[in-house]
Amino acid sequence: MTEPTEYRRVGLFGGSFNPVHNGHVAAARAFMEQMWLDYLFIMPTGIAPHKEEDPNTSPMDRLKMCELAFEGMEGIIVSDLEIRKPGKSYTVDTLRALSAEDVRLFLLCGTDMVLTLDTWKEPDELFRLCYPVYVRRESDPLLDGRINEKLAQYFRKYGKMVRRITMDPVRVSSTQIREAVQQGQPIGNLVPPAVEHYIKEQGLYQNG
Ligand code: ATP
Repeated sequence: MTEPTEYRRVGLFGGSFNPVHNGHVAAARAFMEQMWLDYLFIMPTGIAPHKEEDPNTSPMDRLKMCELAFEGMEGIIVSDLEIRKPGKSYTVDTLRALSAEDVRLFLLCGTDMVLTLDTWKEPDELFRLCYPVYVRRESDPLLDGRINEKLAQYFRKYGKMVRRITMDPVRVSSTQIREAVQQGQPIGNLVPPAVEHYIKEQGLYQNG
């Protein structure tokens, strides 16, 4: 079998996106630029393996908000692959679905996620299928040692360096947004305007 001479560089950025926020958008942009991606799949999870389903929003709401947040950004594809799939979504299965001979896959994780990659389903296969990269959500220097130790461990175990995407941390979480909405506080500086509008219009996150 001959090796393809040209690869398409394809990124995967998965999450609950409940809701998608400015930190996700900034990380996706930096990922595209710094990994020279041809395409980036934004992948809201169906049922995330590590989270409970939120009765306040449907998977379709989370998907719609991603579409609004990334609308018009060239190369970004908001995918319903995991949402359409019954049962839990595992990243390794999604990577398998996106794999092709002429595709090089990159997986973006925030700090919290990169620290747990070896506990995900089939970590050997996950590392074989993609190049994981990470982005810092915070600038806490106390975490530097833990991250470096973990990355060295991954290199020894799976033979891959996990590269870092650099950006000024955007300190926001979806939890913070859900709480702010419930308490009637503004969220205009935390999510893109179209997402803010959608949350208001649909009355999301009113009940905690
Ligand atoms: P929650 O508060 O509900 O746990 P979250 O804000 O962590 O949500 P997720 O949808 O769980 O958002 O995150 C999806 C991915 O985006 C994860 O890899 C996570 O680490 C990353 N991420 C989340 N927030 C940020 C941020 N502010 N900057 C960079 N990456 C982020």
